[in-house]
Amino acid sequence: MTTHSPADLGEAVRGLATELGDLLVLDEETRSQFTTDYGKIVHRTPGAVARCSNAEEVARVVRACRAAGVPVVGRGPGHTQTGQSTTEGGVLFDTSAMQVIHEIDAETLIAVCDAGVIWRDLTAATVEQGLVPRVLTNNLGVSIGGTLSVAGLGVASFRYGAQVDNVTELEVVTGTGEIVLCSPEKNSDLFDVVRSGLSQFGIITKVHVQLRRAKPRVRKYFLLYDDLGALMKDCEGSMQVGDETIHSLESWCSPCFQGVRKIGDGMELGVGAQTFAYWMYPLHVTVEYDEGAEPNDEEILARFSPYRHLETSDYTQHEFCERLLPLFTLWDRSGYTEMAHPWMETVLPWDKAQEFIELALSQLPPQALGPGGHILLWPSRADTSKAPLFKHPEGEFVMGWGILPGVPKEFLDMALAQLDMASELSIGFGGKRYLSGYITFDTAEKWEAHFGSETWARIKEAKKRYDPDGILDTGFFRF
Ligand SMILES: Cc1cc2nc3c(=O)[nH]c(=O)nc-3n(C[C@H](O)[C@H](O)[C@H](O)COP(=O)(O)OP(=O)(O)OC[C@H]3O[C@@H](n4cnc5c(N)ncnc54)[C@H](O)[C@@H]3O)c2cc1C
Repeated sequence: MTTHSPADLGEAVRGLATELGDLLVLDEETRSQFTTDYGKIVHRTPGAVARCSNAEEVARVVRACRAAGVPVVGRGPGHTQTGQSTTEGGVLFDTSAMQVIHEIDAETLIAVCDAGVIWRDLTAATVEQGLVPRVLTNNLGVSIGGTLSVAGLGVASFRYGAQVDNVTELEVVTGTGEIVLCSPEKNSDLFDVVRSGLSQFGIITKVHVQLRRAKPRVRKYFLLYDDLGALMKDCEGSMQVGDETIHSLESWCSPCFQGVRKIGDGMELGVGAQTFAYWMYPLHVTVEYDEGAEPNDEEILARFSPYRHLETSDYTQHEFCERLLPLFTLWDRSGYTEMAHPWMETVLPWDKAQEFIELALSQLPPQALGPGGHILLWPSRADTSKAPLFKHPEGEFVMGWGILPGVPKEFLDMALAQLDMASELSIGFGGKRYLSGYITFDTAEKWEAHFGSETWARIKEAKKRYDPDGILDTGFFRF
């Protein structure tokens, strides 16, 4: 672990710049682009930004940082929410300089890409060949290395697991500056900790991503439920192993505003009165098809029992992958993007999910989400994901729940306190937090409780082996 004072750290980084030349950028304008992440809660300024285009260059920088005791961190487009992709005074690896898609093999169904490749670019390249990555996140503007460092959940995860379950080989520069190829067969201990490892064991430089053949058209059915239990029952039906009819499941908790109710004495907002909602649950299900071989709507809809079937729409495969882009554009236009985003995502045991979600929603004034904020539901099978560091409850199914508010600065402290309570409550219900969000595990005990003793021991062992000097440490994990 580095023990530099801030002034010594600055001095050490300037020394590295002399040694590493163009690989490090020290100017203030560049560093100021990386002082926070999507959360806008944690603010830290890197001492230098590393722009490397291959593993050899990354290894050179890591070795020099190790010798000088300078911390390093991986950084994609920075969609984390509690500073996971930031560093105070250390070297930040901006992977946007590693953007090459080396190969898309339609026979082996593998794409070989640099870790800085954005999923959007890989998707556009594969769709042209009738292929798609097996799992895509809702937002395609994230990097392959970034989502593999967390997990990468999507609307097809109920069938294929997380993105970390859909890579066959990784090239990694460890904290010792070695370049190591790892896979389930080769250096599997490294493969197992780098996936969902949040930059703690190495910088991922190249990835073999699994693809699947995809039909060119997607039909989406917009269903609306007024009963979470009914939605879950219908999802169970669509998630049975061997039943391949439904290709994606996407869901939300959506507030139907009911005005103001009394919660105490007087009518002051937050003390005597609170806005409240009746919660509804949209479920979007899709079926892929070939041109001229449309799905039988009656047969598909007979599988579900919503309150209403609102609409049916057809998309090209590419339009479907990018379906949420208009929403993100709206967020930019409405000011949502500029706010703080203390997102609280948790993966709940299926048998406790309904009770937790209904309890949490009953306490939530809908305005607390801010304009554009929303609540995600993510039904999945539990057994599709086996990556050891992506923690989720056991059982046949799990339910992800994510509250994604946009919070103005003046309400941030209040919102953080409430989200902390919601996080504690979800953990009490057996939930496991999704680690790119607003996380406040501030002791080793909390981290051990999250990972479980066995995995935590494995993490500490791997840390000793792959990052013995603790340079890959943003202070996020507490050892
Ligand atoms: C609008 C929005 C929508 C989202 N939707 C989804 C979703 O549908 N499903 C989902 O699972 N998540 C989702 N997320 C979360 C997002 O996928 C994660 O935050 C992801 O880590 C972001 O990737 P990034 O490329 O921006 O990485 P960053 O935020 O830059 O980095 C993420 C982590 O990875 C590390 N890292 C980055 N690159 C490397 C590398 N090459 N080697 C080693 N470590 C590295 C960083 O240090 C950090 O710990 C969403 C986030 C936002 C803001």
